[in-house]
Amino acid sequence: MSGLIAEHLKKSYPTSSEPLEILRDVSLSLEAGQNVAIVGPSGSGKSTLLAILGSLDLPTSGILQVDGVDPLSLNEKELAAYRADQVGFVFQEHHLLPQCTVLENVLIPFLATRTANAQDVETAKSLLERVGLAERLTHRPAELSGGERQRVALARALVRDPPLLLADEPTGSLDQSTADAIAELLLELQGERQKMLVVVTHSQSLAAKMQRRCQLDLGVLEEVA
Ligand code: ADP
Ligand code: MG
Repeated sequence: MSGLIAEHLKKSYPTSSEPLEILRDVSLSLEAGQNVAIVGPSGSGKSTLLAILGSLDLPTSGILQVDGVDPLSLNEKELAAYRADQVGFVFQEHHLLPQCTVLENVLIPFLATRTANAQDVETAKSLLERVGLAERLTHRPAELSGGERQRVALARALVRDPPLLLADEPTGSLDQSTADAIAELLLELQGERQKMLVVVTHSQSLAAKMQRRCQLDLGVLEEVA
């Protein structure tokens, strides 16, 4: 079965008294080419949910399936390969390596499972061209603007052609006009490559551009208009 299927996800943290329930009952499904915004108050568990969808974190219980694979059934080594192949992440902070060039940063996802080859370098270069940074391949992150750094982060998330893109406040550190440009680019790339995209955002303007909006509150995810 293709697509993302999450059913009845729960996440709680043990405390000295009652467990702290962050996600009580979260279900979400998504197919190739579809995108959804997740909005909700600060502390409502949006980042926790995204980390679980991307298998960076485990749910306490629930079902997760991505393109027919159940990541919850994988061992640690299988999971590292699964994440590298299946999931591209974009965060609020770009998490680029400061000592590496733009091109090297985009090649990093390949290093999770093997060394990068000539084909990978071509893929990375063509993506950097696509995001408007063809002239910046040998620059370091410190030499780029915030918007340019997020363009590098988008190229890095897509370089292994994962079916699932997850973005946590991808425009949260940018001024409005740069944020709008990054949001447009993210949606263009998602549409033209037919990715599944889940974006956590506080931005009304970004949420409004997405096909669907879901609100996470009190541990429950609900579709909103
Ligand atoms: P959001 O992204 O919506 O702001 P988060 O997913 O970051 O929310 O956090 C949701 C809640 O989970 C917060 O109350 C946070 O304090 C709590 N939380 C996150 N990680 C842990 C942890 N390892 N142990 C206990 N509580 C945690
Ligand atoms: Mg968060």
